[in-house]
Amino acid sequence: MKELVVNVIGAGLAGSEAAYQLAKRGIKVKLYEMRPKKMTAAHKTEGFAELICSNSLRANDTKNAVGLLKEEMRMLDSLIIRAADHTKVEAGGALAVDRELFSKYITEELKNNSNVEIIQEEVTKIPDGYTIVASGPLTSDALSKEIVSLMGDDHLYFFDAVAPIVDANTIDYDKVFLASRYNKGEAAYLNCPFNKEEFEKFYNFLINAECVVPHDFDLIVFEGCMPIEEMAKRGPQTMLFGPMKPVGLDDPRTGRYPYAVVQLRKENNEGTMYNLVGFQTHLKFGAQDELLKYIPGLEKAKILRYGVMHRNTYLHSPGMLNCYYQMINKPNIFFAGQMTGVEGYVESASSGLVAGLNMARMLEGLEMIDFTKKTSSGALAHHVSEEKSEFVPMNANFGIFDSLEERTYKKARKEAYASRGLETMASIIKEYNLEVK
Ligand SMILES: Cc1cc2nc3c(=O)[nH]c(=O)nc-3n(C[C@H](O)[C@H](O)[C@H](O)COP(=O)(O)OP(=O)(O)OC[C@H]3O[C@@H](n4cnc5c(N)ncnc54)[C@H](O)[C@@H]3O)c2cc1C
Repeated sequence: MKELVVNVIGAGLAGSEAAYQLAKRGIKVKLYEMRPKKMTAAHKTEGFAELICSNSLRANDTKNAVGLLKEEMRMLDSLIIRAADHTKVEAGGALAVDRELFSKYITEELKNNSNVEIIQEEVTKIPDGYTIVASGPLTSDALSKEIVSLMGDDHLYFFDAVAPIVDANTIDYDKVFLASRYNKGEAAYLNCPFNKEEFEKFYNFLINAECVVPHDFDLIVFEGCMPIEEMAKRGPQTMLFGPMKPVGLDDPRTGRYPYAVVQLRKENNEGTMYNLVGFQTHLKFGAQDELLKYIPGLEKAKILRYGVMHRNTYLHSPGMLNCYYQMINKPNIFFAGQMTGVEGYVESASSGLVAGLNMARMLEGLEMIDFTKKTSSGALAHHVSEEKSEFVPMNANFGIFDSLEERTYKKARKEAYASRGLETMASIIKEYNLEVK
């Protein structure tokens, strides 16, 4: 029998997961990754599945759609979630990781897999044969052009930003305090407390600070990753009810929550670096240094990595892809990851899992699997493939699921979505013999 080979373009969150799912089913994979020969504007290393901004994979609780998604992925033997569970750092109810160890785990797993051939080259043309394109929101220009010619010019983009990371040794620990909101979970965040006057000074600096992109630039920003200075322009309340929300974060020195807070989350297990939660920014580097002087506890903090802003590419997938992430007109090509219109690390990995698993089944002559809108994995796949009036990238959320069959009190709904999702996934696993061996 002819050997089955699949090209996977991009060893990011989606491509790494897709390659693993194919390889574990005995299919040979040519995994193309252009780094380090050619870097993107945001990646810093040559490691696979590099997390380019936050180190958090968000909630772990299945009563949250992204927590449910992770649990489904565990049930389907996801490499990305296994790596995250192995390299996690404290983060309250969230699953956050040491990004270096996380990437190392995945890189080694794939490099040591005899079914995976790693090719460190930029792909500029989609190869003939079976291919999964998972080149991400920062797809190189040459490949972007090739994709436009394949898909037509319904090829969209918006702008996205990352948050700065500071050196833990330069934080003033006399001013910041450790607390989790409403004392839930372990206290994993350092909180920089502001009084009203401090907040007003900070706010005034922020709305007047210089950005890398001119203010009149026609900026298309994604609500889920909005730069802090864009958010500030909507008014101080947007900050106080958004990333600087203080409620439930009582300062042990006063017994009360402060007027506003900036939260810091550990970047690695050693706790030598912290990122500013929700503070993605495109301020000029000098302005970022200045901004820290207005944050109690960070007046002397040293920035190890500045926040930056990047193009973020995604396709108009409805009508082009089906719920297996397969091209309707060219069934030998699948797409996966952020570029399909799922949003977030876990969502991207999930699409890689669904695409990889279904490509493998197609090649084995087996029926492909629709995970249905009762599971988080399937709801995302349907989100990108179903026609709708306005298509925008989407995080996992219960709004894209099938409604619950029975009337359920608001308080019990999340639990109902979670248990229906887990039961559906368990029965799909049984029906299609996907049990983890
Ligand atoms: C600036 C920015 C900040 C973000 N912050 C967050 C965040 O904090 N949290 C979150 O959940 N999500 C965030 N995202 C979204 C994030 O990109 C995705 O969640 C995730 O990384 C996408 O996974 P992916 O596999 O689709 O792409 P990636 O992880 O980017 O992987 C794509 C891979 O393809 C490679 N590649 C590109 N072109 C080629 C080519 N021509 N040939 C060969 N290889 C190629 C790239 O080098 C890369 O390794 C952010 C996105 C951007 C752009």
